[in-house]
Amino acid sequence: MVVSNRRSLEKQCGFCGAEVRMIDINQASALAAVTQREIFLRVENGSLHFAENADGVLLICLESLRQNFFGANGVKQKSKH
Ligand SMILES: [Zn+2]
Repeated sequence: MVVSNRRSLEKQCGFCGAEVRMIDINQASALAAVTQREIFLRVENGSLHFAENADGVLLICLESLRQNFFGANGVKQKSKH
């Protein structure tokens, strides 16, 4: 079976239990403006959801990334006291 399309990045996240956008480590670090090391650390401590594609490439759940770095509503927390 020769299927070589990368068009769909939607994937079932085992953590969210929903179809979410999964991005690779490069995109994740660029988006969050942190190092890939930071991404890996968060994957390891369970903060970030992840999955692997058919090639064994690590993919990060965009929703978890958003919640980690941008807050649940996509905004940085503004209530300081
Ligand atoms: Zn997720």
